[in-house]
Amino acid sequence: MTEMTARQPRPFDLIVVGGGAAGLLAAIAAARTWQEHAGPAKAIPLSILILEKNDKIGRKILATGNGRCNLTNVMAIPAAYHGRDPRFCRGALQRYDVRATLDFFLDLGLVCREEEDGRIYPVCQQAAAVVDLLAQEIERLHITVQTQATVVALEPVEPVYLGSQPLDKAPHWRLGLADGQVLAATCVILATGGMASPNLGSDGSGYRLAQSVGHRLVEPVPALVQLTTAGRKTVCLSGIRVQCGLSLVQGSQEIGRESGEVLFTEYGLSGIPILQLSRTVSMNLHESVHEPMRIRLDLLPEWSETAIEAKITQRIRQNPTLRRPDLLTGLVHRTISAFIAREVLHQAPDQPVRTLSPRQVKSLAQTIKQLELTVTGTKDFSLAQVTAGGLDCRDFLPDRLESRLKPALFAAGELLDIDGDCGGFNLQWAWSSGLLAGASAARLLLSFQS
Ligand SMILES: Cc1cc2nc3c(=O)[nH]c(=O)nc-3n(C[C@H](O)[C@H](O)[C@H](O)COP(=O)(O)OP(=O)(O)OC[C@H]3O[C@@H](n4cnc5c(N)ncnc54)[C@H](O)[C@@H]3O)c2cc1C
Repeated sequence: MTEMTARQPRPFDLIVVGGGAAGLLAAIAAARTWQEHAGPAKAIPLSILILEKNDKIGRKILATGNGRCNLTNVMAIPAAYHGRDPRFCRGALQRYDVRATLDFFLDLGLVCREEEDGRIYPVCQQAAAVVDLLAQEIERLHITVQTQATVVALEPVEPVYLGSQPLDKAPHWRLGLADGQVLAATCVILATGGMASPNLGSDGSGYRLAQSVGHRLVEPVPALVQLTTAGRKTVCLSGIRVQCGLSLVQGSQEIGRESGEVLFTEYGLSGIPILQLSRTVSMNLHESVHEPMRIRLDLLPEWSETAIEAKITQRIRQNPTLRRPDLLTGLVHRTISAFIAREVLHQAPDQPVRTLSPRQVKSLAQTIKQLELTVTGTKDFSLAQVTAGGLDCRDFLPDRLESRLKPALFAAGELLDIDGDCGGFNLQWAWSSGLLAGASAARLLLSFQS
């Protein structure tokens, strides 16, 4: 990195890099913690600057929950999170749990309600309300926001010593912006997100900033993303939604299990249960596990294979002249019924059903219970909702989110190697870790007062 020179007369107390969910809450928590604990010094508020590369803050929040912002989930406990060391998330999630998050937002004026599967949304159904209320609080707390400000360099400033004593016990950081500006701060919080949906700002640049000062990276891969499947045989099912049970299988081993609504697409499969399985697929592909993965869809999870077989046999007896593609109508979607008939019966699909052998009937029932597709991969980061992998949590203190390698450097949100399930869990991690990083930075700044 080229040497940067700070032209700023006085450094900011805190610079937050990234004006997303984690960065906004970090800045607010820092300002509030200072106000609560600074005693007489609180008359002078912390000088806090948020640097955001987009032309406005909170762009990704606006896109969440299809514009409705599924901001948390009643089941957002540490067990719903992943990463190389998922226990790392406990510090933030236990200190700032779902109740604390909802209280935080209610205090700002946001009323929320629980919907299906514990998902929590604003009652006004508008993600824009979340961003507006955060922006109002940022203004009230006199936090400065600089948009269209992309941080491209980060470097610690070596302290000046008088004998063996540093002249100033507070550490300092310099940050270089893409437009050539150089800024200085006592504390820095990196909250630049991961690599998912880079069109919303998070393009992985935070990884490079942290790596430039020695931080390690767990290879980022797309998660909560659609799956691609082999061949074009299911293209005819594109657009059909089915409620089903799913298992992800590799060799003879089941490596994932979900249930819910699956959407057939041109390229493969989508829907919440597919997004949930995508992390395992991404990780396996990244680790170059060569054995192919397969998805098995149980199209009628409420029924056993034997019961389906009996039902088909009864239909054949009732209506022996029925054409084969119509045999499964009523058991599965009509188009899927014709598809299965073609797949299983191969020849003479138009013959009457009375010509079917008991083995063929069994085979039809089996396919309804286990429609199998070979998984070829996932869609890329441009369509992913979240990043699995990120800054290695071993380099951060879980109870403060401060770097173990560099003093006064903090990280929060998706940038870290923590990702959650689909359904409000990732925003909860961003809120909780942002609040913890901000409060920790303020406490460090308070310690320099004494
Ligand atoms: C389409 C979509 C829908 C989603 N829906 C949900 C949902 O309903 N519920 C849920 O829980 N999660 C959802 N998620 C995931 C969730 O939005 C993210 O996990 C969360 O927003 C991450 O917050 P963050 O602050 O860590 O990162 P981000 O929100 O990505 O914010 C990072 C910010 O940093 C800025 N930035 C990056 N690099 C720099 C730089 N070098 N200099 C300056 N600024 C920089 C970016 O522009 C961005 O504004 C969704 C994600 C997507 C893409």
